[in-house]
Amino acid sequence: ATPMSIMVSVGRAAQMGVLIKNGEALQMASKVTCVVLDKTGTITLGRPSVTDILLTAPSDVEGAKADQTLEQLLTRVASLELHSEHPLASAVLEEAKIRKLTLVEPESFSNVQGRGIVGIVDGATLAVGNRELMKSQGVTGLAMREVEVGELAEQGKTPVYVAQNGELSMIMAITDPIKADAKVAMSALIKSGKRVVLLSGDNLHTARAVADQVGIKEVIAEVLPEQKQQHIIALQAEGEVVAMVGDGINDAPALVSADVGIAMGDGTEVAIESADLTFLSGRLSVLVDTFTLASASMRNIK
Ligand code: ADP
Ligand code: MG
Repeated sequence: ATPMSIMVSVGRAAQMGVLIKNGEALQMASKVTCVVLDKTGTITLGRPSVTDILLTAPSDVEGAKADQTLEQLLTRVASLELHSEHPLASAVLEEAKIRKLTLVEPESFSNVQGRGIVGIVDGATLAVGNRELMKSQGVTGLAMREVEVGELAEQGKTPVYVAQNGELSMIMAITDPIKADAKVAMSALIKSGKRVVLLSGDNLHTARAVADQVGIKEVIAEVLPEQKQQHIIALQAEGEVVAMVGDGINDAPALVSADVGIAMGDGTEVAIESADLTFLSGRLSVLVDTFTLASASMRNIK
């Protein structure tokens, strides 16, 4: 193995916006058989927005009172989301900004890893997050508007549930646009013989819908951050050499465990530190080029 040819390849990778930590990472990249990708911020742009709002309290559904309730509820939810670092929080804050809501300081706030947030605002106890969070908080009324929520998820939107004082009050659908080159990049990867897997903390229906849109067949969803890492280890136990692509804090353990960890340049610092490779542009089409370059440089070495 000539250090020279590795250096040349590392330089060439840099020209396409791929930062490689060391020569070993390049060598490992040439052996990858399976590519696992996170959804939010990796397949999607990481710029989510609120597209639909469903109220669920029966007395509040119609009329002016409903509007007032909605604004008040949104104010509380956004006030809580102000303290969250999750990408979904920015969508809620944007919605609050559009509606010119004045946020308040919550009396309490805490983050429930991979599920959502809870806290007290204006004396009301709030839980904001996925269905699992609602169940774990013993929220009532979860069956309300179930069919519509299902339809929204089938469209690739993430349902975010809001409970107030233990009762389901609202469901927001949040959508994050898919990166323009995602579909082409995934088909190039699959064509090159790689097994491609989507690994997401999001709702299974939402994750499946996004996977369908970009041509990914294998989907693992509704996983907690520490489970992401376990899924990587399980794939390795099957004999796969695994590359993991992610952007979030919740991807960091999986990036470390993967044979090759790849972070998006616009992702969190923790992800970048945990990864072997960083894609500065955040473009997915660079993936197949990187593996091709890695293989070519290893062929030169032999
Ligand atoms: P991922 O980034 O892979 O979608 P996470 O593990 O970060 O998954 O989050 C899983 C789910 O928890 C989200 O899809 C969302 O439903 C819920 N969630 C987490 N944090 C928040 C938050 N701040 N506001 C609303 N929902 C949240
Ligand atoms: Mg992500």
